[in-house]
Amino acid sequence: MLFTNCNSNSSKSIRFKEFCVVILKPAEFSHVSDRKEILQIILKRIQDNLNQIPKTGNETRFPKADKNHEFIKPDSLLLLNEKTRIEKVSPHFMLKNFCEKTRSENKGILLDPALVLKMEILYLYIKKLNPAAGIYISSGYRSLKENYEIGNRTKFSMHQFGKAADIYICKESNPGRYFIDINGDEKINKKDRWMLMHLLWKIENEFPELCGYNQIYKRHVHTDIRGEEHPTMPKSLNKRKKIIKKDLQMKLNSLGGRNDIINDLKSVFKI
Ligand SMILES: [Zn+2]
Repeated sequence: MLFTNCNSNSSKSIRFKEFCVVILKPAEFSHVSDRKEILQIILKRIQDNLNQIPKTGNETRFPKADKNHEFIKPDSLLLLNEKTRIEKVSPHFMLKNFCEKTRSENKGILLDPALVLKMEILYLYIKKLNPAAGIYISSGYRSLKENYEIGNRTKFSMHQFGKAADIYICKESNPGRYFIDINGDEKINKKDRWMLMHLLWKIENEFPELCGYNQIYKRHVHTDIRGEEHPTMPKSLNKRKKIIKKDLQMKLNSLGGRNDIINDLKSVFKI
């Protein structure tokens, strides 16, 4: 339903300028032929789940496209009401997990299946760090109005397209806006948010299709799937490795690589 499509023909340095938000276009997974099949099966499963949710034509405003951005307005949105809130969109997530900011009923929301996939992968890694841990998305989809009301003046915020999540790693049994210790130092501080950042980088190195901006905030970490890394973040894995402390790198390595995660995904999606 919703995917980001970057102009892959352009060089990296100008890619961001030519970045397009294209709605209702399938993701390009062709450059990862070895994993293509399984990822596409999983994305289709998530999409099938989203297709089960009733749609609404309720008007929502979108930012106007400009010369660097382009998007197609979707015909319909996912209907959010008391019943659809608890629809499962993937093994560990319900629709409501991606729309905490949308309180009122019978609203239309957007959700990109690739964001759900990224959260499932993150969930699998988080469990390896701390079996009691879970993911709380304090803000997933936000309408243009909701985005403006919370003071976000970014014109093309990925939250408006259902492509972004503000994340807390909390106790799975008590989801909320707080962090638990995930780096194993028995303290809860900024290092846990950095651990989450490193996990997101690890995921993006293993699954470049899920690449986006990651940013640490005072209390949460933002991630999205815009298809381009944050301009202030180290671009290559080697550069990232240099700023990751050795013990942390060892910890990240001990969590296994993409093949382990693909196997875990197969198991949770029963493929
Ligand atoms: Zn955010």
